[in-house]
Amino acid sequence: MPVSSMSEQAHPKPELVVQGIAASQGIAYGQVFVYLQSDLEVPAYEVEPEKRADEVARFDRAVLVTREQIQRIRDEVERNLGADEARIFDAHLLVLEDQALIAETIRSFEKSGRNIESCFNEVARRYVVAFTEIDDEYLRERAGDIRDVAQRVLANLLGQSSENLSRLVDKRVVVANDISPSDAASIDRSHALAVITDTGSKTSHAVIVARSMKVPAVVGARGLSAKVHHGDWILVDGYDGLVIVHPSEQTLFRYGKIQVQKKSLEQRLMLANQRPSVTLDGVEVVLRANIENAEETPLVKEYLASGVGLYRTEFLYLNGSQIPGEEEQFQAYRRVAEQLAPATVVIRSLDLGGDKAMEGNPGLFPREDNPFLGFRAIRFCLENPNLFKEQLRAILRASVYGNVKLMYPMISGCEELARANAVLEECREELRAAGVPFDEKLAVGSMIEIPSAAYTADLLAVRNDFFSIGTNDLIQYLLAIDRVNDRIAHLYEPTHPAVIRTIRHIVREAHAAGIKVSVCGEMAGDPVLAPLLLGLGVDELSMTPPLIPAVRYVIRAMTLADARALAEEALTLAGGREVLALCEQFHRARVRFD
Ligand code: PEP
Ligand code: MG
Repeated sequence: MPVSSMSEQAHPKPELVVQGIAASQGIAYGQVFVYLQSDLEVPAYEVEPEKRADEVARFDRAVLVTREQIQRIRDEVERNLGADEARIFDAHLLVLEDQALIAETIRSFEKSGRNIESCFNEVARRYVVAFTEIDDEYLRERAGDIRDVAQRVLANLLGQSSENLSRLVDKRVVVANDISPSDAASIDRSHALAVITDTGSKTSHAVIVARSMKVPAVVGARGLSAKVHHGDWILVDGYDGLVIVHPSEQTLFRYGKIQVQKKSLEQRLMLANQRPSVTLDGVEVVLRANIENAEETPLVKEYLASGVGLYRTEFLYLNGSQIPGEEEQFQAYRRVAEQLAPATVVIRSLDLGGDKAMEGNPGLFPREDNPFLGFRAIRFCLENPNLFKEQLRAILRASVYGNVKLMYPMISGCEELARANAVLEECREELRAAGVPFDEKLAVGSMIEIPSAAYTADLLAVRNDFFSIGTNDLIQYLLAIDRVNDRIAHLYEPTHPAVIRTIRHIVREAHAAGIKVSVCGEMAGDPVLAPLLLGLGVDELSMTPPLIPAVRYVIRAMTLADARALAEEALTLAGGREVLALCEQFHRARVRFD
C-alpha cells in the first residue's frame, strides 16, 4: 500500500524505531498481526483436588469450541474454494471425534492431577509420533491433522489465538518471534504486507521464501513481537532493516518519497532486464532461478532466467507437513521441467533438517542440539532409503519431460557421494526393469557447501557432472556462524578471505576436471558480490528471480577482465570488510542511478 496515501493516519503515539537486519527489499505500511509460533508453550502445574471437575469441563468446552471453529472454516473454505479444498477440515473434525484421544487425556489427568492442557499436549504428541512411524502413507498423513487440531485445542485452553498465516483475515504486517520455513511457505501472499521476526538472519529459509514472494522482510528485530499489539500501525523498511512503530506524519511523508524513487528504479531495472546478460567484453553469464515450488515457474519466465539452478524440493514436504508420495512429486517436477523446457532445471534432492525440519513429523526429525550439524539433507536421505528412492524415481521419471539435472545437497566427500549414486543406480535399474522411460544421460552434480567437500573438490570434481556452491551453508560452516542466529549475524561475512579463497579453490579444481561451477547461495543474487564471484571464475549464478534484474544490470556494466582484477585484488586483502568495500567501490563505479 503506498505509504504517502496513508499519511492522514499518522499517530499521536511516539514513534518506536527498531533497527533489525534488512532481509527482503521493499517498504510496507500497515497494521500488525502478531503471530504466535505454531508450537504453543504449554505450562504444567498441579490442579487442586476441589478444582478437578472444573478442569474436565474446561477441556470439554475447548473441544466443543474447536469443533465449531473448524466447522466454520470448513464451510467458508467450501464456499470460497470448493469441496475438495474443504475436505482437509473433515479430517480435522474426525480427529476431534476420536474418543481414544479424549479418553486418554482424561485418564492421564485423573492419574496425574496435572492441568488438562499439559495432559492433552502429552497424549497428542504421542499420537503424532506414533502416526508418523506407521508404514502406511495415508495414516502417516494423519499425523499432520492431529498436530494442527491439537494446536487449536491448546490455543483454546490457553485462551490464545490460533490464527494461521495461511488465513490472514486482512492485509497485515506479520510480526513474530520466529517463523519457520513451513510457516513462511504457507503464508497468505495476498494478505501479508511484510514480515518481521525477532530472530533470524538473511539466509534463514523463511527469509529466502519471503524474498521470492517479494514480501519486504526485516529480521533480528529483537523483542519487537513483545512490544507491539494486534492492530498497531507499523512501517517496514526492508532496504535498511528499519521498523518504525506508530510512524509520525513526517516519517510517512519521507518514506512516501523513498517508495516512489524505489519503484521507478525497479521499473528501470525491469526494462533493462530484457537485454542479454553479457559483459562489456562480450562474455555471456548464465543467470538461473532458485525456486521453492512448482508454482514459481511464471516468475522464472517473468525475470527471464535461463531455467532453474536450484529447485529446493523440500518445500513440497514442508508445505503440508506431510510426505508426498512418488506420484505427487513426479507431477510437480514434470510440471516445472515441461513448462521451462528446453531450459535447464536443476532439481535438488531433499534438504530437510537444519532449519527445515518437518514440524508435523517429530518422529522423523527428533529434536537436536545442533540441527545444522545434525541429521540433515543427504544424511537424512541415506538413512531413509525408501523416501530417498521415491524422490529419485520421481526425478528420473520427470527427466524425459525437459532438461532436468539432479543435485545432491550437503555432500561431505566421495564416499557419501558414492552411496547416493548407488541408490540412484538402484532406481535406474527399477525403472528400466519396469520399462519406465528416463534420461539415461541425466547429469548429476553436488552442492559444495561443507568445508570437507571444498577441500576434496579435486576428488569430487571427477565424480560429478557439475558443482553448485551453496554459499549460505559454506559460509556458516567455514566461519562457524549459525546462519539463523541473529546475535552473530554481523560476523556472517560472505567476503571473509576464507570464503573467497575457498570459492577460488573449488572453481580451480572443477575447471581442472572440466566441469562447470554455479553459485546458488544468496551471495549470487547480491549485485555487489556477483562481480567478485564471476571474477573468481564462477560460471553461472542462480538466485531468487526478483534479484535477477539488479545482477544482470551490473554484469552488463562491467568487463569480465575487470571482475578478474577485482578478484585478484580481493584475494590479497586480509579482512572481509576490506573486501566488501572493494566490491562496493567496483559496483558504485559502474552502476549509478541519478
Ligand atoms: C546454500 O546453502 O547456499 C543453499 C543454496 O542451500 P540452502 O540455502 O537451501 O541450504
Ligand atoms: Mg545449503
